[in-house]
Amino acid sequence: MKRRRIKKGPIIILVLVVVVILGLIIGIIKLVPKNNKTKVKTNNTTTTKKVSKEKTKDNYDLREGEELISKTTTGMHLTKYEGAYYVDGILIVNKSYPLDSTYEPKEPYKEITSDYLYGPDYLDKTVMEKFISMKESAKDAGYELKITSGYRSYKVQVDLYNNYAARDGIDAADTYSARAGYSEHQSGLCFDLNGTNKNFLETPTGAWVNEHVADYGFILRFPKDKETETGYNYEAWHFRYVGVELAKKLYNNGNWISLESYLGVDSKYE
Ligand SMILES: [Zn+2]
Repeated sequence: MKRRRIKKGPIIILVLVVVVILGLIIGIIKLVPKNNKTKVKTNNTTTTKKVSKEKTKDNYDLREGEELISKTTTGMHLTKYEGAYYVDGILIVNKSYPLDSTYEPKEPYKEITSDYLYGPDYLDKTVMEKFISMKESAKDAGYELKITSGYRSYKVQVDLYNNYAARDGIDAADTYSARAGYSEHQSGLCFDLNGTNKNFLETPTGAWVNEHVADYGFILRFPKDKETETGYNYEAWHFRYVGVELAKKLYNNGNWISLESYLGVDSKYE
């Protein structure tokens, strides 16, 4: 009896030690695959980053995932990239080149929320900053500028166009309103200025804008008598950001060249 009592103690300790060791081994085995997975992920990321930019036959640099569609009539490169069409890197959206329904400004001035799907705050950050800078110069010169329509989501454009089409008919609506996906407002790169006054550029404020807007990288998007090129009636209030260099070319001493004719693309619904 005495011998058995003495032996039980060490056996219990031995069993406990074995259980603890087994526990540790199981724990380590569970951790190992996790570490391996992380390593694999890291390797994938590295591999993706290493893929070099593609070039077209004439050495035009394509962004990663950018697809060359064709050359335009002015010899530029029409591509599709992340839900939008581009011509030599300039985003184009008109009756021939829609944005995907899910397209949103990539770097908006303020984060886009799902319950508020339009407004100047959601314009592209660069565009908004350029506008603010122009607005301040205009103020110094005694003029007040106000964005009356900025970013509009696909959803908002659906309602807008449907309302116009119901009121005036599809043919009429198509001359002044874009179908959903075909509106430049969805890009976050354009805005309507001080309402929708056809004579805006003849007002003192509009005359100042017309003269200075290209210095901030903006163009008059739908110039007078260019309906066959742009696909839209003259809009004295709609300005689009394209960068200072291109904007100054298109300004053309006040005789605006349409973006379509410069890029060599048309604007027609199929
Ligand atoms: Zn507009």
